[in-house]
Amino acid sequence: MFDESKKKFLLHSCCAPCSVAIIDELKDQFDLTVFFYNPNIFPLEEYLKRKTEVMRVCGDCKVPVVDMDYEADQWHGKVAEGLENVEEGGERCSLCFRFRLAKSAEYAAKNSFEFFGSSLTSGRNKKAEVINPIGQEFAKLYKINFFDVDWKTGGRQEKGSRIASTKNIYRQNYCGCKFSLPKNI
Ligand code: SF4
Repeated sequence: MFDESKKKFLLHSCCAPCSVAIIDELKDQFDLTVFFYNPNIFPLEEYLKRKTEVMRVCGDCKVPVVDMDYEADQWHGKVAEGLENVEEGGERCSLCFRFRLAKSAEYAAKNSFEFFGSSLTSGRNKKAEVINPIGQEFAKLYKINFFDVDWKTGGRQEKGSRIASTKNIYRQNYCGCKFSLPKNI
């Protein structure tokens, strides 16, 4: 990976297990800040649990975190309304990616970050070919750069699993919104 030391990078983190290897990789290459904006997560207790774990990882790595608001009603109105029964990976998920990446790009541009990226492509079922074009679109809109890596590649997923297990990081068993909860919960 190229040397971009000193450049400001805002990394949207969806959760700690998906982000830990990315933070470890980027913290030495960039002036890194982590951005927690995930109003999709339901219920509130789960949201707080995931956020606490991201804060813990960032504390260990000495990386600052921006803790955005839990705009769950806005997320529901703009993303899920009418799409409650759509299968995971469908239109609701694309809107969910857009919702979070739009806010990340807007914050990055307003706060003079040169790069932004997201841990979203780390997820086993998350397609980089869906997520990265959305990031590029907002990068263009806000005139910044999007780091369009598929974070599942290059052994990062395995590295993330190793670190997560060493640090005993909480690993959830569903994507995040109430519509992705396992049926037996
Ligand atoms: S399943 Fe995951 S990506 Fe899809 S809408 Fe729910 S939280 Fe968002």
